[in-house]
Amino acid sequence: MSDLFISDLHLSPERPAINRAFFAFLENRVGKADNLYILGDLVEVWIGDDDPSPFTRELIQRLTAVTSTGTQVYFQQGNRDFLVGGKFARETGITLLPEYHLLTTAEGKLLICHGDTLCTDDLDYQAFRRKVRHPLVRWLLAHLPLKKRQQIAQDWREKSRKANSNKADNIMDVNGNAVNAVMERFGASMLLHGHTHRPGVHLLEHGKRIVLGDWGKQGWYAEIGCEGIELLSFPISAEGTI
Ligand code: MN
Repeated sequence: MSDLFISDLHLSPERPAINRAFFAFLENRVGKADNLYILGDLVEVWIGDDDPSPFTRELIQRLTAVTSTGTQVYFQQGNRDFLVGGKFARETGITLLPEYHLLTTAEGKLLICHGDTLCTDDLDYQAFRRKVRHPLVRWLLAHLPLKKRQQIAQDWREKSRKANSNKADNIMDVNGNAVNAVMERFGASMLLHGHTHRPGVHLLEHGKRIVLGDWGKQGWYAEIGCEGIELLSFPISAEGTI
């Protein structure tokens, strides 16, 4: 019996080694688990469930292989893949979760989320987020031709890269008050999130905050087993073997 949690793999056709590492992870580790929770930013960019690219098709096929063996896969949208929707869920057999999701574990109540909503000091990002998550904007995006969406996504990534290189370190991290407020709201003693690419375990006054890492030279995941929740990592070779 085990539950696994991952986020921020940023899979893309430009990083074939990381894609291979993820597929190996699915086969070797997730195959034996009961549940896999993907806490957002599985991919570098998601322009819509109708993307016919070979990369997207392979991803769908690999996830379907996991769910068809009985492992439950859950997905929360990240800031890169907030356009993942119902069609993708139906095709792969995964379950979409809301922005915040509470799990009951032997160790206590665990709240999971991507983490970008907690970076409240980054006012520019929060304003951008509100804009693109607006139902009307999402509807418009979904109805644009694929090519146009590809251009927009490219443009956003470029802008985000430029903006982030000028931001102070603390602005890009979660805000302590936002963390306390959301944990209180859900009655959680543990919070698990990604997004900041700062893996670690932080002890809080009444619990702990666990941060998943992004995948690169290492792969990161959290596991709930008999020992409680653990943050774990493994090396990824240049060829993508794990
Ligand atoms: Mn993110």
